[in-house]
Amino acid sequence: MTWTRSYVVQRAYKLFTVRKDGSIGSLFINRKARLPIGVWMEAESHPTKGYAFRPMWHATEKPIAPHLSMNGRQWFEVEIRDFEEFQRPDSQGGKWFLAKGLQIDWPLELCSICGKPFKIDKAQIKKNICFPCWRRNWETVAKANEECLR
Ligand SMILES: [Zn+2]
Repeated sequence: MTWTRSYVVQRAYKLFTVRKDGSIGSLFINRKARLPIGVWMEAESHPTKGYAFRPMWHATEKPIAPHLSMNGRQWFEVEIRDFEEFQRPDSQGGKWFLAKGLQIDWPLELCSICGKPFKIDKAQIKKNICFPCWRRNWETVAKANEECLR
């Protein structure tokens, strides 16, 4: 295992619990902590019964974790540093990272058509639809209009 240098910052994704009051928490380890957005956090050691002892932040390369429930949870774009990579089965989201430093950046919304998490763009026309779905829809409408004009 090789550790990257600390100045290397990697984009990654992490699923968090979002509580009724809007605060963000970890899914499994040190669950009660309220995690801030936009602040670098060092991994702390919280040995938890039933979980392998890894005093690191877990994050994934893509916002995909089919083995985890989305109930009460939301994907966030994060940045990590001092990390190592390891490969998990696709059913667990593929590439994972274990990082010593993590910063939460931005929440992802779920697309109302395909259900996949996506980042809302300022220039976006439909706020609840991801760009690939929006474009597919637009192409369908454009094609229908074209046929009407024939
Ligand atoms: Zn979509």
